[in-house]
Amino acid sequence: KTTTVPNVDGSVNNTEEDDEEDVVDLAANSLLNKLIRQSLVESSHRVEVLQKDPSSPLYSVKTFEELRLKEELLKGIYAMGFNRPSKIQEMALPMMLAHPPQNLIAQSQSGTGKTAAFVLAMLSRVNALELFPQCLCLAPTYELALQTGRVVERMGKFCVDVQVMSPSNLFFLVPRGTDVTKQIVIGTPGTVLDWCFKRKLIDLTKIRVFVLDEADVMIDTQGFSDQSIRIQRALSSECQMLLFSATFEDSVWQFAERIIPDPNVIKLRREELTLNNIRQYYVLCESRKDKYQALCNIYGGITIGQAIIFCQTRRNAKWLTVKMIQDGHQVSLLSGELTVDQRASIIQRFRDGKEKVLITTNVCARGIDVKQVTIVVNFDLPVNQAEEPDYEIYLHRIGRTGRFGKKGLAFNMIEVDKLPLLMKIQDHFSK
Ligand code: ADP
Repeated sequence: KTTTVPNVDGSVNNTEEDDEEDVVDLAANSLLNKLIRQSLVESSHRVEVLQKDPSSPLYSVKTFEELRLKEELLKGIYAMGFNRPSKIQEMALPMMLAHPPQNLIAQSQSGTGKTAAFVLAMLSRVNALELFPQCLCLAPTYELALQTGRVVERMGKFCVDVQVMSPSNLFFLVPRGTDVTKQIVIGTPGTVLDWCFKRKLIDLTKIRVFVLDEADVMIDTQGFSDQSIRIQRALSSECQMLLFSATFEDSVWQFAERIIPDPNVIKLRREELTLNNIRQYYVLCESRKDKYQALCNIYGGITIGQAIIFCQTRRNAKWLTVKMIQDGHQVSLLSGELTVDQRASIIQRFRDGKEKVLITTNVCARGIDVKQVTIVVNFDLPVNQAEEPDYEIYLHRIGRTGRFGKKGLAFNMIEVDKLPLLMKIQDHFSK
């Protein structure tokens, strides 16, 4: 994909794609979240647990010590700055580390500590003296696999004899006929299938822990469900199977039940977004130029904090960016045609306060929370293909989670003919 950088004279070359709205790419969003998230997402809900055997006692832990981990693993956890288990980890870790091993399906929104939990489980089950793959983790993209590999490396820093094979220290480096000696293997279903069945680098019957991460993203990708199931079928019956997902629609659930036998289930409900702490305004305008003027009028005010400005199409977002830059404002453009790395670095700069104003399309609205954003401007109202207001996107753009969210301000720039849409939004939310 090409990226759009304004020309020297400030103009940009538009393409046909610019008229399209950016589509939400689950895998890209998930990766962005991981790249920019530095701390746990808080939750006010209780963890729901469904045990495979309801009569067996249910353990939860408040400290990592209670888990009786290997000394070097505990050191790794503390070196990462973790003081105590997250909400989901309190329940999940004792189950994952139990003897005999138990299978688990866990669902909680991203940022709640799922990756850290299964990385810990894999590291604790590895026998460092045995030089063959013992833990296998499937991830939906190369980049996500890489990211999980990094977590294994960080947490396992003091487990000196444990090694991880993720796409970063890839295979083609493994000459044909040589055995893989690394104990933890992470990859996408297609590649892993290739490694196991075609290249016969991994003996699946020797795998002790099988992790299927980001199941919701996984089933979104053609062929990945079937490939994952083929891999799972070749595992031994003693292998512990763990599945994680940020969301839990029926399709994910059906897939989870197909692939994980006799599971315990852990769920943590997502924090609801509300508009309660948000003051919402609209500015009635004649034209796009007029909307621009209205934006400039409040610009000084919005840059006291940090602001996100939403446009409906890439073309509009580009137009606005160029115009603002030409008028001497410091803004950055986040759009779907940028690579994930480019997007991550733009969001990171914004998070660090290097830029005060971010202009974007809907790609940024979901999943990515930039806590310090106090002001949201809808330069265009979110509408669906039927030209009806998209309430969900509206809520995602300006809503905050009730208990932890800060107060916010939202401005809607409305061309006169769009006023009925705004009124519908007002009715819908009764605000
Ligand atoms: P998920 O897989 O659910 O998206 P992660 O395991 O990636 O969540 O955790 C989200 C962030 O919180 C990461 O930056 C991770 O390092 C951090 N984290 C995870 N567990 C803990 C913990 N127990 N204490 C502090 N931080 C944690």
